[in-house]
Amino acid sequence: MNLLVRNATAILTGLKGSQARHAGPDLRVREGRITAIGALVPEPGETQVDATDCVVYPAWVNTHHHLFQSLLKGDPAGLNATLTPWLQATPWRLRPHMDEAMFRLAARIGLLELALSGCGTVADHNYHYWPGMPYDGSAILFEEAQALGLRFVLCRGGGTLSRVEAANLPPSLRPETLDRFLGDVDRLATQFHDPAPDAMQRVVVAPTTPPHSMRPAELRETAAFARARGLRLHSHLSETVAYHDIVHAHHAMKPVHFCQSIDWLGPDVWFAHLVKLDADEIALLGATGTGIAHCPQSNGRLGSGIAPVRALEAAGAAISIGVDGAASNEAADMLSETHAAWLLQRARAGEAALAQHRGGEGEAQAAAAATVEDVVRWGTAGGAQVLGLPAVGTLAPGQAADIAIYRLSEDPRYFGLHDPAIGPVASGGAARLQMMLVGGRTVVEHGHVPGLDVHGLGREARDAVRRLLAAAQ
Ligand code: ZN
Repeated sequence: MNLLVRNATAILTGLKGSQARHAGPDLRVREGRITAIGALVPEPGETQVDATDCVVYPAWVNTHHHLFQSLLKGDPAGLNATLTPWLQATPWRLRPHMDEAMFRLAARIGLLELALSGCGTVADHNYHYWPGMPYDGSAILFEEAQALGLRFVLCRGGGTLSRVEAANLPPSLRPETLDRFLGDVDRLATQFHDPAPDAMQRVVVAPTTPPHSMRPAELRETAAFARARGLRLHSHLSETVAYHDIVHAHHAMKPVHFCQSIDWLGPDVWFAHLVKLDADEIALLGATGTGIAHCPQSNGRLGSGIAPVRALEAAGAAISIGVDGAASNEAADMLSETHAAWLLQRARAGEAALAQHRGGEGEAQAAAAATVEDVVRWGTAGGAQVLGLPAVGTLAPGQAADIAIYRLSEDPRYFGLHDPAIGPVASGGAARLQMMLVGGRTVVEHGHVPGLDVHGLGREARDAVRRLLAAAQ
């Protein structure tokens, strides 16, 4: 489709510094790519999109999720728990009772929520695999993302060890052999992985968590396998202090140094969370160009802490934003997540401020905290960087036309803003999407996915939760 987006109030590009904004006000799309941004004259055959009173962002790139958890929101048993008791109370308890239909429905709900927030690329860390699994969950995830028109990166989780201690482990919590794990990664890569800079489908090697999911030699073998196959690596790390205790007890080192020892650092690796880091670990992550999926809402919900994102970025690490699974984040959309990232990075800087009479910099210490432009860059270009998709995540000629257009003229929340460009992030809420394009194709229009029955999906979700809880009794 040939499009001309006309008369935008503001354009944030996802780029750095003076390039973070473009005066626009128009943006041209040809065959899935942005060909021009500026004051443009309509051309014959172009469909015009009126973006008056709208702000334009790159479509968001979500770099960490567990879509199957979209039917596990707000479970009272885990609502006020920290990470490990929450894992026991909610995902480990309920996962064994999810069937194929529930898994597909959960994926559909999570992907739709993201799409309606303006997210065009989703990386899902799926660890719902077990020996003899009767359906292909990976294929379901790719199918659901494709049906919506989203870019999808499958981070193939699981492992050879189980953290769950039980005499009779339910089949769906049983670990795999390394051969089966790598064999399935190989199958998925052959079937789905596209190395192109604007790929619609990617596969990543992603044992669920390094200290718990595999033995060190297996993790090293997994990293070598991924690199030989041209695949990236992803996992969880240092979400809470418990990671330091377990790695110290078993390996007598810090979690990031453990990852170095198993070849799990580098620009082709990104970790979710990285909340609890010592200064030498931040330096090592930065020096190796390792990435983070910053998940501030889940980290807040589970009482884990606030990741030192500014220090990581200053050290050289790649910064991206992830919503994490909805079982620990009941607002798993990119606007809520980036709103939280903005506020919490600023709060973190203030938390560390020291009065001048005590030798500190006073309030000035917090002045270098995150700006809205920083957060937009992390959630777009930063995500594209950690996923290795350089043709998405920024608005510039030649880039893929992954574009979120927010209409701020229908909600009083956004009225009175001196700088409308910051509205979708700074004001929070659910800024209404006038349109979202992915690769130039319309995914969302006037706040809806054309042809999708949201009310019907809500009914299916309520029914599935009822069946899930009945099965888990
Ligand atoms: Zn996670």
